[in-house]
Amino acid sequence: MTMKITLPDNSSRELPDGSCGFDLAKSIGPGLAKSAVAVTIDGEQRDLYDAIHQDSSVSIITIESEEGLEIMRHTLTAQVLARAVKNLYPTSKLAIGPTIEDGFYYDVESETAISADDLEKIEAEMKKIIKNKSSITKKLVTKSEALKVFKSKKEPYKEIIINESDQEDNFQLYFQDNEEFVDLCRGPHLPSLDFIGAFKLTKVSGAYWKGDSKNAMLTRIYGTAWNNDKDLEKYLTKIEEALKRDHRKLGKEMDLFHFQDEAPGMVFWHPYGWNIYKTLQNYIRSKLDKNDYQEINTPQVVDRKLWEASGHWDKYRENMFITEIDEEHANEKRVNALKPMNCPCHVQVYNQGITSYKDLPIRYAEFGSCHRYEASGTMHGLMRVRGFTQDDGHIFCMPEQIESETASFISLLSEIYSDLGFNKFDIKLSTRPEVRIGSDEVWDKAELALENAIKKLDLPYKIDEGDGAFYGPKLDFVLTDAIGREWQCGTFQADFNLPDRLDAEYVGEDGNKHHPVMIHRAILGSFERFIGILIENYSGKLPFWLAPQQVVVASIVSEVNDYAIEVKELLKDCGIRAETDLRNEKISYKVRDHSSKKVPMILAIGKNEKSDKTVSIRRIGSTDTEVLDLKTAVKLINSENEILD
Ligand code: ZN
Repeated sequence: MTMKITLPDNSSRELPDGSCGFDLAKSIGPGLAKSAVAVTIDGEQRDLYDAIHQDSSVSIITIESEEGLEIMRHTLTAQVLARAVKNLYPTSKLAIGPTIEDGFYYDVESETAISADDLEKIEAEMKKIIKNKSSITKKLVTKSEALKVFKSKKEPYKEIIINESDQEDNFQLYFQDNEEFVDLCRGPHLPSLDFIGAFKLTKVSGAYWKGDSKNAMLTRIYGTAWNNDKDLEKYLTKIEEALKRDHRKLGKEMDLFHFQDEAPGMVFWHPYGWNIYKTLQNYIRSKLDKNDYQEINTPQVVDRKLWEASGHWDKYRENMFITEIDEEHANEKRVNALKPMNCPCHVQVYNQGITSYKDLPIRYAEFGSCHRYEASGTMHGLMRVRGFTQDDGHIFCMPEQIESETASFISLLSEIYSDLGFNKFDIKLSTRPEVRIGSDEVWDKAELALENAIKKLDLPYKIDEGDGAFYGPKLDFVLTDAIGREWQCGTFQADFNLPDRLDAEYVGEDGNKHHPVMIHRAILGSFERFIGILIENYSGKLPFWLAPQQVVVASIVSEVNDYAIEVKELLKDCGIRAETDLRNEKISYKVRDHSSKKVPMILAIGKNEKSDKTVSIRRIGSTDTEVLDLKTAVKLINSENEILD
């Protein structure tokens, strides 16, 4: 008996029934057999030695691939870290050990406290386990058999996991060295620990079992793993660099913003931080004006009726801040929600009056202040907040206008990203998901329109099959920062659903009423998060036009204070964010102090400068000074304040 195995390139080959992924890899070539670590069989990842018994589509996962790396990290935590912990702390209990971005962790309960000081010892034990080349065998067992194994191994957390599973059999147990060590896992795992590359344990923290503070506190051991030493080194340097640039740390040093418990996840912007915010907003506003957007503003507190009509009340309520009017003080009781997004409100503006096809496209923009409830553990400085302002916009258009709207949006976005210092971004096109509304014909057209627009602009893109929203296909824009981290910021989503739900219409050329397509689009995403990204990208040293404090005029001796004030006033009249520093301190101290706050330009004023009507310009990061007459200096500073366009 043979089976037909279809490969990713659609070629196929016949293999004997019961062959496994390794046999397949071998039949293709010895190189592939050497680097194969697992397989995907009909869309499901499986172990390399799992027997295949029917015609299937199979792709080989190699250790060099993203999936291979993920399997390596998974095997490392489940088979090696867990076993090392058991070897060193025999009474410890194993909970769960998943992979995370760039690495993995394992949660364990241990009588002996495990601290960061123990990581080296655990790492050494892990290396020993890998070197010993333990044999790994897999067994499929029933629920009761699995329970028996973990009861005898005194692993209560594994018993809980098995008991809570609704499956009755096919529990996968991976044994090492006969039955000395066992792990419960859905797999797949590496076929051999030889495939493990370079790794490092990074930190230890506390974590509640199942994330619930009523449960036992476990010890979470984190690690990172890569294919080779070079990749590991690169990652560790990046982490170190990221720590130095952390916007929460810089935000404090530069006096930009703070958070406090009375309003978790909502930003208290200080004057300097708000300067960045205002400058960025004015810049975006001018770009929108030039691109024929009409700015609007809609309410923040909106009756639940609108959220019911839009579908948010049903699908999104757990993330919404609900408000009620106090009945004692009002004779009506209304339940409202703080808007979590602006879209339904924009449809209300669109719906005033009758729109003709000749009026389309209509582009509304709003710096829309939104609130979404995020679990407290997920918030992270400006990067993840509960209260934020989107650079939101909605385009109402006819289906045949999607392509040109896509193209002009992408041009605008790339202009803005490059002005802000990001010259590289990736585009991801997400296509129709399984569950969706709208006919295939409509989806065909919309997907094609998005794709054609990108192609005509000659930009590279990736397709994410099936990852679109249920209401339409979308584009995501991911930019890369100075240390190679990727941030998804821009988005462009076609929506066939909401105009229909909220009765948005236009009168077509045929005289009949039609629903327009609504396109949700944002370039920065939210101002809060984007400012966080900017701060980290530039290590706080923002370009001159964005810097919260652009110039400090610092006096060297107090006799020149009047001239310093005169210089500052002159700059302020030109719209430069200038301040004086007239403190009775040494100029070297003042320079150090303002440099640490990332002020891009310091003008030192001494007796000579005053008598000659000049200034000494000192730029951040440079020890050179440039003496210019006052007029020339102001002209120069003014020209630097203009956004390059
Ligand atoms: Zn929207």
